[in-house]
Amino acid sequence: MSTLFRDAMLVELDPPMVRQGDLRVSDGRIASVGRNLTLQQDDEIVDCGGAVLMPGLVNGHTHLYSSLAAGMPAPPRQPTNFLEILELIWWRLDRAHNFKSVTASGTVGALAALRCGTTTLVDHHASPNCIAGSLSALEAGIASVGCRGVLCYEVTDRNRDTEAREGLDETSRYARELSSRKNHRFSVLVGAHASFTLEEESFVGCVRLARELDTGVHIHIAEDPCDERITQEKFGCGLMERFERVGLLEIPGTIFGHGTHLSAEEFTRLGEHKDYLHLAHNPSSNMNNGVGYTPVVSATMPVVLGTDGIGADMWREARVAEFKSHDAQLSLPFGKSLGFLAESARLASRALGITLGSLGVGAAADLVLTGYRPATPLTTDNLAGHFLYALGPEFVRDVMIDGRWCLRGGEVVSCDERALRADAAAQAGELWSRM
Ligand SMILES: [Zn+2]
Repeated sequence: MSTLFRDAMLVELDPPMVRQGDLRVSDGRIASVGRNLTLQQDDEIVDCGGAVLMPGLVNGHTHLYSSLAAGMPAPPRQPTNFLEILELIWWRLDRAHNFKSVTASGTVGALAALRCGTTTLVDHHASPNCIAGSLSALEAGIASVGCRGVLCYEVTDRNRDTEAREGLDETSRYARELSSRKNHRFSVLVGAHASFTLEEESFVGCVRLARELDTGVHIHIAEDPCDERITQEKFGCGLMERFERVGLLEIPGTIFGHGTHLSAEEFTRLGEHKDYLHLAHNPSSNMNNGVGYTPVVSATMPVVLGTDGIGADMWREARVAEFKSHDAQLSLPFGKSLGFLAESARLASRALGITLGSLGVGAAADLVLTGYRPATPLTTDNLAGHFLYALGPEFVRDVMIDGRWCLRGGEVVSCDERALRADAAAQAGELWSRM
């Protein structure tokens, strides 16, 4: 199966590049790029009419298990701090999940992503009362839409003694399942909730498993001051000391979510491992939870952008990253958030073993065709201005993932969206009643 995109405004973020030309896709990869490419037998022709064609975007940190939360019943009382937000909202929701609702969450989250041109989701999953098999259930939901996923199960001790072991076992099981397929659609990281809910043996177990699987650890860090405070109280050391003690800072491909309350010195210490550690910045979520602003301008390690479960609109997240940095008087260099998106694609590329975020020959055919025909000059030099202030998800028209159409003319074609959403609504009702 091959497709020839004609007369496109080809836009890439890594490095920023704008050029006009054609692009040909064959067998799920980009086969050629250039001007006036020759039509080959059996090519499907897509006339882009000068509109922007770009690689699919990557959500660098999300929680699809919250996809069925829209409109759910209010918590028993209004949370007054971050720990109460977890206890009264998210930990009640994740405990209520069963396999069907996990799959429906994956589907709904992936549908939302697809419409925003987000084709890969780096997810951090929790469903404490259905752990074994949950990553496959989540994958089934995402795969039904056609998106890619870098998944993990959140290892924690917050509910019961055996919980961390079950989370580690599920990670191992899913890793074995994936190794029998090797199709670059899904991969696994070792998930860990956060230092403050991980006993020593469990934390060491995460690091050991990551070494065994040769993969990174995906963990929250200092999202709220309670992470440092409880770590001090329970384990007699600070976050960085604990990470060093268990060997976490030596695990390549590790993702630290948030870092909102890291000191400048702690940022520097993490930055010493910048060749292989990432910070996932989630500015919308940080604002929503009222936990403060992550001084991401201080980060010397690679920064990826995530929505932390609030949809999958990476344009919104890039804008919020820029705007909030100004609001906090810690301004990012203009357009820095496009670099964060590029880094998200690099991270997912390494995890999945395929090149994402590129229009180069050999890269994955994860493509977003927009209806955006710029009304002002668009060049490599001013791409950030268009990306942040004009081009957005409202222009996403067609999305191809792995060379297969998933969205055409704004309609989902990879699955029966209406039926899946109806099923999800039924699952959501039951999920809420179990909370
Ligand atoms: Zn998170």
